[in-house]
Amino acid sequence: MKKTLLTLLLLPFVVSCQTTNKETLEKKKYAVEKTEATWKKELPEMAYFVLRQAGTESPFTGEYDKFYEAGVYACAACKTKLYYSKDKYDSKSGWPSFDQGVTENLEFDVDYKLGYARTELKCNTCGGHLGHMFNDGPRKTTGKRHCINSAALTFIPDTDE
Ligand SMILES: [Zn+2]
Repeated sequence: MKKTLLTLLLLPFVVSCQTTNKETLEKKKYAVEKTEATWKKELPEMAYFVLRQAGTESPFTGEYDKFYEAGVYACAACKTKLYYSKDKYDSKSGWPSFDQGVTENLEFDVDYKLGYARTELKCNTCGGHLGHMFNDGPRKTTGKRHCINSAALTFIPDTDE
């Protein structure tokens, strides 16, 4: 019953998108999918805002902005490994920055929120929003900057085994 109502409410939106971006109609299926209510219950407030509502944390506030321990960064929602500490660098942007990630676990989408196309980075397992990719990264490596919200990540330290 509730689902039908939601579908009806969303219908005008879906139709209006049809002319601009046909691909949004074929909604991608993710290996991990939960209802928004479940995500909201499971995730800390800031993680929910970033991952599920494509929000952005304020610069210089995230716990991993100035954090350089050895380990791996996983998606805060589904724990898929996304970034390695060896690829993290200080971009001085105020957000954790990486020159590359675990490509097969990332989804590269396009977002026009600011009126121009930007590459949006998402978790390819759960569809959670992570941040954006820019072309002003370190030239000696990839030239890319993956600008990621700390709240979207969970750090897993390397163990000495
Ligand atoms: Zn995820």
